[in-house]
Amino acid sequence: MKDQKLTPQTKLIHVGRDPHAHHGVVNPPIYRASTILHPTLDAWEKAWQPGFTGYRYGRRETPTSRGVESAICELYGGDRCVAVCSGMTAISLAILGLCKAGDHILVTDSVYGPTRIFCDEILPQYGVSTEYYDPAIGSDISKLLRPETSLVYTESPGSLTFEIQDIPAIVNAVKQHGVKVISDNTWATALYFNPLDHGVDVVVEAATKYISGHSDVLMGVIVGRGDIAQQIYSKAKMMGMCCGSEELYSAQRGLRTMALRLKQSGNTGFKIAEWLANRPEVARVFHPAFPNSPGHGIWMRDFSGCSGLFSFQLYPVPKAAVAAFYDNLSLFGIGASWGGYESLVMPANPVDIRTAVSWDEQGALIRLYTGLEDAMDLLNDLERGFTRMAEACRNVAAS
Ligand SMILES: *Cc1c(COP(=O)(O)O)cnc(C)c1O
Repeated sequence: MKDQKLTPQTKLIHVGRDPHAHHGVVNPPIYRASTILHPTLDAWEKAWQPGFTGYRYGRRETPTSRGVESAICELYGGDRCVAVCSGMTAISLAILGLCKAGDHILVTDSVYGPTRIFCDEILPQYGVSTEYYDPAIGSDISKLLRPETSLVYTESPGSLTFEIQDIPAIVNAVKQHGVKVISDNTWATALYFNPLDHGVDVVVEAATKYISGHSDVLMGVIVGRGDIAQQIYSKAKMMGMCCGSEELYSAQRGLRTMALRLKQSGNTGFKIAEWLANRPEVARVFHPAFPNSPGHGIWMRDFSGCSGLFSFQLYPVPKAAVAAFYDNLSLFGIGASWGGYESLVMPANPVDIRTAVSWDEQGALIRLYTGLEDAMDLLNDLERGFTRMAEACRNVAAS
């Protein structure tokens, strides 16, 4: 399949499975394995030779993990992928794999919150210092480079506030200094943006989100090209990182419908974002497809679509009115994560976690994820929320 010029949508259907290796059964069987037997002493010894392509031990590889990893590789045009037990594991492994004691790394200020905690709490124990940079920095990233800078971490769009980063400009500015670039590509997935095609060294994606797509799997993938991808794979195995077979199976099944789910979720999100932008309660919508969203021009240039995750900011209202909006939403669940079939809403508060660029907007920031429900039904649910909010505002004013 690798040589065929297929669109990503078609690839998703066929990558990482081989029915005729399994009696014609369309879906690959789940291999659950720790022990893998070798028929002879000679076979056992060969399994430890360089270039061995079979299976040695379940933690290292099974046909189930190889299926998912080869599928993700093909989607990104990478050389090696490793699937691990969460998106956060993928992130910590990618960072640990690319820096050493004494290094300085640059991380976007709009980074996923738990990634920031990892950089602040874990990396100093190993002598690695983190500096946060303005997500809009572009080629000016070169001004922050020190002799000991080893890594630039990007996430586009950023978590909660959805700034699109100029990844090609960042890559061009740091490559000649031997600095590596990681991208968290969870929002766009391989379908809407491929950081590897823009010179990024390592892509991480929370397969927990769109790849698995049903809110029942935690999984992360790391993919890259050449030696660096091989090194990350080896380090994952040295650190004992792998992914459970049920999760791998669910993720490979999720891939088959991902293009449709992503498209539906993204289209609904855009419709709802447009509706929100015209609501009197809403100060601003943060959605990469909106002209006033940070980095919109770069999104137009580099991305081929948008997913269903964005945020919007209310004009300041009392806390009780914000609660009245959230409470009793019937279709949007209040919860973390996203990428499943069901719509979600979550309070976002960048104030305390931004250090490079302060966030001083007034009014509650709300993150929305639009799932696969009908857009009108979702819109009506939100409208009822705004009605409750207005009522609560009147009650507060009257008391
Ligand atoms: C959810 C998420 C992660 C972490 O994934 P988990 O599987 O929950 O650990 C990382 N990055 C982004 C952008 C995410 O949305």
